[in-house]
Amino acid sequence: MNSCRTFLTKQVLPTFSKSYKKTITTTSSKLQQTETSAATQVTDSPKPLTYLTEDEQMMKETVRRLAVDQIGPHVRDMDRDGFIKQPIIDMLFENGLMGIEIESEYGGSECGFMTTILTVEELSKVDPATAVLVDLHNTLIINAISKYANKEQKAQYLPRMVTDTIGSFALSEPSSGSDAFALKTTAKKDGSDYILNGSKMWISNSDVAGVFLIMANANPSAGYKGITCFIVDRDTPGFTIAKPENKLGICASGTCMLTFDNCRVPETAIMGKLGEGYKIAARFLNEGRIGIAAQMVGAAQGCFDATIPYTLERTQFGKPIYSNQGMQYQIAEIASKIEAARLLTYNAARLLECGAPVAKEASMAKYIACEVAQQATIKCIDWMGGVGFTKDFIQEKFYRDVKIGSIYEGTSNMQLSTIAKHIEKEYKK
Ligand SMILES: Cc1cc2nc3c(=O)[nH]c(=O)nc-3n(C[C@H](O)[C@H](O)[C@H](O)COP(=O)(O)OP(=O)(O)OC[C@H]3O[C@@H](n4cnc5c(N)ncnc54)[C@H](O)[C@@H]3O)c2cc1C
Repeated sequence: MNSCRTFLTKQVLPTFSKSYKKTITTTSSKLQQTETSAATQVTDSPKPLTYLTEDEQMMKETVRRLAVDQIGPHVRDMDRDGFIKQPIIDMLFENGLMGIEIESEYGGSECGFMTTILTVEELSKVDPATAVLVDLHNTLIINAISKYANKEQKAQYLPRMVTDTIGSFALSEPSSGSDAFALKTTAKKDGSDYILNGSKMWISNSDVAGVFLIMANANPSAGYKGITCFIVDRDTPGFTIAKPENKLGICASGTCMLTFDNCRVPETAIMGKLGEGYKIAARFLNEGRIGIAAQMVGAAQGCFDATIPYTLERTQFGKPIYSNQGMQYQIAEIASKIEAARLLTYNAARLLECGAPVAKEASMAKYIACEVAQQATIKCIDWMGGVGFTKDFIQEKFYRDVKIGSIYEGTSNMQLSTIAKHIEKEYKK
């Protein structure tokens, strides 16, 4: 039994009622049978992108249930109050959602990247704000630490990050957003320490995070090649975190400004090599972008799922509004676009799991998923009519929440630039 399976059977399944466990087990064994019979019929046949392993399917269903039962009832309150409730954060840790890919020796679930993507998608169907906390923690911060931190740093941080400590990733600054590597935060060597000075803007999870990956330039004369990644604890003197911004959407996800005022960190806080920060950021933003694509696919699907039953029940002109061909064509078009965005997202995730280059595919997935999520949520509000415009229904929240997709982890323009650069390279060969 692999570690992911051990985790699922020992840690996740016991948290559910017997009847739910039975559903999962039945579904899993059905899948297993399908898998076995398919395998006997066509050996080594390529699998469709929507094919999930038994473990992935189990995790998807588990997260779905957790999201609906335990996050769903608090979504409106958290959106209004502007923070994720501590019991929800505790629940995410207790159910292994905050260390999905971490090796078991550090207490993680040791599942694959696709499992993280499915987790983000399922959480986003219920609450894209909670989903982004889980997404960034797993796809950006933990993956970067797992791949670039040394043994001591991993032993110091990963067990905490599986148990109770949230991570945050700080690259953007007031004067450098799209042009992220023009950052101005400096790290000046002083004996065996570095002194950080500068500020970071729009940093997600920073209201609740305990560990921060801070990008600072340790050699400004070398330009972006001086950018270095430091692991910094929340309570480090000279490091302050402002109040969360008042945002349009994903309101429960805290986004704050960070300030470093002669913040002294030891040389041992450097993650990777000196000057390797831009490489780390560029690499893990690819993974992060697939996570944001999953967030957008989940949000679009969640909004769609909440809307279609209304169109089947609501009658006008003596028949359900769904029965109008004009409605059906729009609904079919949006359903098709959500599925297309999902396939791009899953493909990017699978490529990444194979170790294949993924920069272009990650940008494509994020770009399309963000466009589709905006179109889907606007249409859902239209299909609901007047009630869709009220706060009594969830569609308006999804509509506000998905707007961020085309801004963070690289704006849509920046994704198009990346895609265009790859196309140019391919055709110039
Ligand atoms: C809610 C939220 C959470 C965030 N979380 C994080 C986080 O956790 N960590 C972090 O480091 N950052 C985070 N960010 C920052 C985010 O990544 C930046 O906001 C984003 O990269 C855009 O930068 P900017 O806001 O400075 O916009 P700008 O770079 O000023 O861009 C403004 C507009 O100009 C366009 N533009 C700029 N340059 C070009 C160009 N060369 N070609 C074409 N168009 C261009 C952009 O596409 C955009 O439409 C977050 C932002 C938000 C709003």
